[in-house]
Amino acid sequence: MEILALQCTGKNKLELTKFEKPEPKHDSALLKIKLSGICGTDIHGIEGKRSVKFPFIPGHEIVAFVDSFGKDANKYIKLINGSEIKIGDRVTVNPRIVCGKCYYCNNFPMNQEMCINSKTATSIGSSNYPHLFGGWAEYLYLLPGSEIIKLPDNLSDKNATLIEPYTCAVGCVDRYRHIHNWTAGDAFEINDTVVIYGVGAIGMLMVAGFYLAGAKNIIAIDTIKEKLSLAKEFGANYTINVLDTDSNERITIIKELTEGLGAGVVIESCGVTEVINEGISVLKRRGILFEIGHLLDAGEARINPYILCRNEIQILGHYAYPSSLSMLFAAKLLEKNELSYEKLLKFFRLDQYQEVIFDKKTENAIKPAFLIY
Ligand SMILES: [Zn+2]
Ligand SMILES: [Zn+2]
Repeated sequence: MEILALQCTGKNKLELTKFEKPEPKHDSALLKIKLSGICGTDIHGIEGKRSVKFPFIPGHEIVAFVDSFGKDANKYIKLINGSEIKIGDRVTVNPRIVCGKCYYCNNFPMNQEMCINSKTATSIGSSNYPHLFGGWAEYLYLLPGSEIIKLPDNLSDKNATLIEPYTCAVGCVDRYRHIHNWTAGDAFEINDTVVIYGVGAIGMLMVAGFYLAGAKNIIAIDTIKEKLSLAKEFGANYTINVLDTDSNERITIIKELTEGLGAGVVIESCGVTEVINEGISVLKRRGILFEIGHLLDAGEARINPYILCRNEIQILGHYAYPSSLSMLFAAKLLEKNELSYEKLLKFFRLDQYQEVIFDKKTENAIKPAFLIY
């Protein structure tokens, strides 16, 4: 049997390729993929903007069914919310396989994103047999050390495509709450104003996450009108279009909306370096700026250190998510279906890759995804 995969064979080169369906080894498993999200980091890989090994199969936001597995697979593949995997289980995959041996794995095992030797589908590459190490394909080969999560019963296949990006977003909400709990005296509460710069997939899900966590006021900022109106449906009380305002005007608006104080938290999720200085300027004293938008090196940012010093501002970097348990949390949050998540999604077939990836005809979808079958 032949398996279709969308393989990235070089910079800006995608090719539909056929591979022979493999028999999983004793410690491995094979998943039949139903849906696979298209993420900014997949695009960065295809464009050669981050270090990847060509050829590879992009895609790490996966909804799949267990197709087959080797006789010892249950010893080597961890099902996070169950005792053992079974044929037909509906799952998502933690794309990161950690080494379990490095300094970070030993000292911070609950922060898997820190592992310095971690493997992901794209780092394995598709030149290695059995090639199927990415989500934009009909099947995914799971290596030993992989972790999978069984999907909650009431979560639809389609909405499950949002688990991975939602995990990044709610992980940040979670960190913010911990910081508040740990450092008594911080002027920072969930009942506070959150400013989110950039409402792409992560920023939009950040709006949703803070809204569901009880943030009093959410201000969403972007350049695209349609995204801003969607942000209102996901919990933003106020939106600012960057194209209609300059930096000083935005600072004034945010100060006015917060009774002159400023926001408790700012999320930089647009990847624009200039936003960092504006972000710290709209924070109230002891406010926190989370930097999550620079997955690529965009150079240096200019910061006025007086603002940091006088206002005791905290700037925290946030990358991916700590563990498969956080993916399970995001899956359960999605299962509750408290927001119209389906409005974020738009589906395409694998053979539409030219228009979706290169011509960017995604009709402003927040989360475009491949519907494999
Ligand atoms: Zn992603
Ligand atoms: Zn490690």
